[in-house]
Order: sequence, then C-alpha cells, then structure tokens
Amino acid sequence: MGTDLQMEEVDCPVCEASKGDPLYQEGSFQMVRCPSCQFVFLNPRPTTESLLSFYQDYLPEGESSIESWGKMMKSVFHRAATLLGQYRKDGRLLDVGTGFGFFLTEMKNKGWEVAGVEICRKAIDYARDVLGLTVHPGPAEKLGFPDNYFDAVTGFYVIEHLPHPMAFLRECYRILKPGGLLLLRYPHTTPIKNVLHLFGIRNRLYDLPAHLSDFSPKMIQQCLEKIGFRKCQHLIGGYTRPGDPGKRAASILFGSVSEAVFFLSRKKLLLPGVSKTVLAYKG
Ligand SMILES: [Zn+2]
Repeated sequence: MGTDLQMEEVDCPVCEASKGDPLYQEGSFQMVRCPSCQFVFLNPRPTTESLLSFYQDYLPEGESSIESWGKMMKSVFHRAATLLGQYRKDGRLLDVGTGFGFFLTEMKNKGWEVAGVEICRKAIDYARDVLGLTVHPGPAEKLGFPDNYFDAVTGFYVIEHLPHPMAFLRECYRILKPGGLLLLRYPHTTPIKNVLHLFGIRNRLYDLPAHLSDFSPKMIQQCLEKIGFRKCQHLIGGYTRPGDPGKRAASILFGSVSEAVFFLSRKKLLLPGVSKTVLAYKG
C-alpha cells in the first residue's frame, strides 16, 4: 500500500501557520505536530486525487465482509441512534462517509428522512441497490445542499480522513438548521502512541496514510466553537467490535473501562486514546 500514491507537502490543515514538526514515523509516513496550534497531521500526505482512488479499496468487499463491517460498527451506530432520538423523534439527516449505509437504515427505520454521502463506489452501489438508500457521491462540500436544510448531520470515523477538515465543519454548519445537531465519531491515537513510545513498542496505530490527522477532544472542540457551534459535548459512545479476536478484546476492554470511568466521574473524565463521540449544535 502506498507505492502508487502521489504525495504533497501541506500547511497545517487547521491554522495554516506551519508544515509541522516531526512527531512519529510509521513506515515511510510521518505524523507532525503544528507548533502554532498543536494539531497532529500527516505530512507529506497523499494528494486528494490519490486518496480518491485509494478509498475505492478501503472498505471491505464481498457480502460476508460487508456484514462483518456492519457487526463491527453496530454498537456505535446504535448508541448514536439513541442520542439522536433524545434530540428529536424524526427529521432530515445527512450521514457523511456513510459506507454501506447501515446507520442510515437504522435511522430510516426510526422514521427519519435520510441521505448519505460516500466516495467509495462499491459502498454507494450497495447502499443504493441493496438497502434502497439515497447516497450522493462525495465529497460533501461539493454537493451544494441548501442552507439550513438538515436537522442532523453525522460522520462516523470520517474527519480524520479529510484533507480539509475545517471546510467540512463549516459546510456541516451551513447546511444544518439553526439548533441542528452535528454528531462526529473519531479516533484519538496520540496518547496511546506516547505510552507505547515510552516502552519502545513499535506500532502502526495511526493507520497511515488513510488517516490524515489525529484530533484531540480539545482540538475538535476549539474548531467547532471557532465556526460557531455551541454546547459541545464529548461522550465515549460505545466501541467497535473488530472481526480480529485480539483487536476485539482490546476494543471491548478499553471501551468498557472508558465508559465506566466516564459514568463514575459523572461524565467529567474521558480516558485519552480511545474513540470519542462529540455532539455540537448550530448556534
Ligand atoms: Zn496549526
């Protein structure tokens, strides 16, 4: 992987002030940290065109592996559906990076009017032909949805893949109705990298070059508030169940411990280094 990727050097995708200082190397890829805003991002990184072809093979192929992808995400999707249900009973929802469309199906069954955005062709075909969903070929910023159009926008494990995360967040803000809800799910890997580095344990946890950045909860909240979102709230929001038994055990263990700590601390303590769900409302 990565041999046919065209790479380019970029400025910090959040503040544009620097090309970043080296942080961690994974194979031939390098994560850097912006000295100005502390954002952690891949630099150099694949060009946007290379990424488009890279993602055609990113999601699994074949009926059984599509199904196991659904199983892996099930608890996360279910928790998010519950959160949306607490926000409102139904409404118009856009899911960005919708994959095969399992989350949209769950929301559609709850009475929401749903649409998805996706760049992987085989995922679009599956969501449309097998699940009967409306899915637009992305990226979301190019689709020209009307202002103030959606009651909710969701993105599961999407923002870390985007070359222009700020443009994406601004677009989410524009297309949401006033008071509309943004729900994002993202990994936060740097704290785990730091611990493993202390013990000299080699790893490729950043998942490069697929992940272009590593948002911390603090950074994502700053970005959201800068754009105008309000009432940002972080949650653990469940955990994935990967097919590989070792990864699944780790995910369940760290996910459960994080949930317990979060609950026992009265929603104050979020363990670093596990995936998070963030909610924010259009101001
Ligand atoms: Zn920066």
